[in-house]
Amino acid sequence: MKAAVLYSEKIKEYDLGHVLTGERYENFMRLFEDILGTNPDLEIIEPPYATDAELELVHTEEYIKRVGRYESKDPHDTPLSPGVVRAAKLLAGAGKLAGELIVSGRFDKAFVIGGGVQHATRDHERGFGIFSDVGLCAENLMRNHGIKRILILDTDAHASDGIYRIFSQDPRVLHISIHQDPHTLYPGKGFIDEIGEGDGEGYSVNIPLPPWTSEGAYEYVLRSIFVPLAEEFEPKLIMMIDGSDIHFTDRITQMGLTLEGIKMIGNIVRKTAEEVCEGKVIDFVGSGYSRDSMVVALGWLASIAGVTGIEIELQEPVPIPDELEKDLRLKETEKIIELAKGYLGKYWKCFVT
Ligand SMILES: [Zn+2]
Repeated sequence: MKAAVLYSEKIKEYDLGHVLTGERYENFMRLFEDILGTNPDLEIIEPPYATDAELELVHTEEYIKRVGRYESKDPHDTPLSPGVVRAAKLLAGAGKLAGELIVSGRFDKAFVIGGGVQHATRDHERGFGIFSDVGLCAENLMRNHGIKRILILDTDAHASDGIYRIFSQDPRVLHISIHQDPHTLYPGKGFIDEIGEGDGEGYSVNIPLPPWTSEGAYEYVLRSIFVPLAEEFEPKLIMMIDGSDIHFTDRITQMGLTLEGIKMIGNIVRKTAEEVCEGKVIDFVGSGYSRDSMVVALGWLASIAGVTGIEIELQEPVPIPDELEKDLRLKETEKIIELAKGYLGKYWKCFVT
């Protein structure tokens, strides 16, 4: 196992003046250096800024120009300034490079620190995201590196509606988003019947889960949806979007996972990737808005531990509440999975009953 950790201290300019602060990245890096800094299998790599021509792989020219003038159409969540736009280009550059490092064979795992833009579309900034690092990574691999099948798994608490909009018609990208029920959380999209469109019908999977779903139920979803789909689709690599906003302490979401739960997700992705795509995983770790900044950093580390298989000790900085059982909401989750299989059975042999 060889992993690239794409990080530049310049990413601290991604500070939107609300829950998304620039210091999250430095906090994480301090912890990373402390715990994993001497691990010879991990290499920190400084990503470049994406150029406008590269951004055009996924975004419209007009949109790139508008962002260049710092004119935001989502000013409350996604204000634009020179520093923020530079940092957004840095994330996009990191996403593109992460894909290239994996196809070069130098690494089988890559982590984009601060990445995982979910809500931005080809021509619109939204929900803290400006340029789609995930979209650019995938488009570049498909157009310039001959990659024909990519699986994107998003386990962040929010539905990745922007990624859905970018790839919902493209059967080369199987996009699975597991998230808090959009009736109860931004972006209000990502319902179970959103399964893709046109040629991409059946290649988008949305699994909305009730608030306070915890890791037993998440594990059930991964084993009943993600693993069989990955085995049948046979992607060339797996991209994942995760982070810390599924942690029970998060300020803006209401899911119920612990650090061990976040690591469990990474473990399942690693083992599945070993089985279907020679272990190749690109992990975008960037979410997390807990008041306790240590939780955010530890969540990102938990994800890295799971995806790489490197053993580290994870101590919760905040005591786990008694009412948070490991399999909270499992019964409801089982019903949701049955429903999802009903929608998807037409497209996937693994779901034919
Ligand atoms: Zn999120």
